Amino acid sequence: MKSTMMDFQLTLAPMLERAATLYPGVEIVSRMPERNLHRRTYADLANRAQKLARALIAAGLQRSERVATLMWNHSVHLEAYFGVPLAGGVIHTLNLRLPPQQLAFIARHAEDRFLIVDEVLLPLLQKFISEAPFERVFVHRTCQGSSDRYEDYEALLGAAPDDSPLPQLSEYDAAAMCYTSGTTGDPKGVVYSHRALVLHSLALALADSFAMSHNDSVMPVVPMFHVNAWGFPYVATMVGAKQVLPGPHVDAESLLDLCEREQVTLSTGVPTVWMAVCAALDKDPRRWRLAPGLRLVVGGSAPAESVIRRFDTHNIRLIHAWGMTESTPIASTCHLCASLGEMSEDEKYAIRATQGTPVPFVQARVINQDGAVPWDGKTIGEVQLRGPWVASSYYNMPELSDKWTEDGWLRTGDVVTVNKHGYLHVVDRTKDLIKSGGEWISSVDLENAIVGYAGVREAAVIAVPHPKWDERPVAVIVANEPRPKPEELNEFLAKRFAKWQLPDAYIFVEELPHTSTGKLLKSALRDRYRDYLNGHFTIAD
Ligand code: AMP
Repeated sequence: MKSTMMDFQLTLAPMLERAATLYPGVEIVSRMPERNLHRRTYADLANRAQKLARALIAAGLQRSERVATLMWNHSVHLEAYFGVPLAGGVIHTLNLRLPPQQLAFIARHAEDRFLIVDEVLLPLLQKFISEAPFERVFVHRTCQGSSDRYEDYEALLGAAPDDSPLPQLSEYDAAAMCYTSGTTGDPKGVVYSHRALVLHSLALALADSFAMSHNDSVMPVVPMFHVNAWGFPYVATMVGAKQVLPGPHVDAESLLDLCEREQVTLSTGVPTVWMAVCAALDKDPRRWRLAPGLRLVVGGSAPAESVIRRFDTHNIRLIHAWGMTESTPIASTCHLCASLGEMSEDEKYAIRATQGTPVPFVQARVINQDGAVPWDGKTIGEVQLRGPWVASSYYNMPELSDKWTEDGWLRTGDVVTVNKHGYLHVVDRTKDLIKSGGEWISSVDLENAIVGYAGVREAAVIAVPHPKWDERPVAVIVANEPRPKPEELNEFLAKRFAKWQLPDAYIFVEELPHTSTGKLLKSALRDRYRDYLNGHFTIAD
């Protein structure tokens, strides 16, 4: 039987139209690099995004061609999020934290035709433009004046032909692309279709995801150059929520000031950002009058359970989510649900620190050498994904097709356990697990426990080669003075870990290395401490 439903394409265009029609006056507040606040509305956004689309078409942009952005989080970036796809093009957000030679590689690999760049980022552009393919560069000027070398973004918009028709889009058209921030090998491009972005947005708005509505004031702290700021600018537009885009100033005090001023109700960020915010709140709990019911989405790496607890004391709820560039990115969210039954407070926190359950339409299976793992909360395996917003290949890299199984599942590289209710708990990246005397040790579990010790600000646990045990865990720690003593840390950890799982050494450093998206760069630490245990006394001995 043939369905009688319309053939209505799931594209970004109706999202924007709806926001402009129903919520024309709702604000998009941007904190510009110079710290001034700049206000636009959804009516402005729709108008300017359509102008951008028309201007790009007039400039010769063809279907599926890439327009790169090199920008912070602000409303002009948001207008490119919509304007480029409305023109039939693909917005390619360049990660401004990457080294210039990698940016040049990525822009060439993606064959970016045009670039829109923040004026304050021109010094960065200078470092790689000679190696990049951009035919035209449009500068979003905010401080009036410096460079005449490139074209002006506002002049591009000003020259847009009035009311020329925009292309009919198919939901399978490419709309956006982003390169993974992997620590090994070349960065890999993932291309998002309109359909993937629309369905991902619907799933994120659900009550069991982030319960987003037009009453929210949404502040993505996650950069708009990293997996579309986890998709939140699209969801916020879809539901007509106010958006607060913080620009480059994401230190704890600046964020809290903005949260208070714009009465933010939902924000997103990585654990390091929220740990700093939590420390500022702990220090001066009465300083900011935040919106009641503020919720903070945390992901990118696992938050320590202690941080979730500390935020609760400030009446702020941390919601844990997990995903990756290849999954647009949200694949699971964590909430306590009635079917978990009666639990103690400690059990509830332990659950809230897990990565939770897959969102609707994302299918997850956990596989090890014996097949699907039992849901016992103990057996580890790799989690594999498929779903309407899970990538099925990398852009122009057929040699990497083994990232997918023969039957089409994405191998995430994340090692997890599954509890009896189906909650995933990421134990490690495949490459970060520590194998000591044939037994696996989770670096993430140790890190999260160490961060719960008073005065410890950040911890990385790495595998270090060992003559007897193959590998042993070593903890590299950033801590306040006076630093904790190794015996104290051992005693603290011994409550939760077996003796053989405890780190052999604690190394205190001023700072830990991070990737361009804020994850611990453990490969650099492994290189640095490769010989650390040779000839050293070890506790395991
Ligand atoms: P990226 O593609 O740069 O967003 O990185 C994705 C990877 O980050 C995942 O495969 C995980 O290893 C890690 N990751 C993301 N979210 C979480 C989380 N909530 N807990 C633990 N690891 C995470």
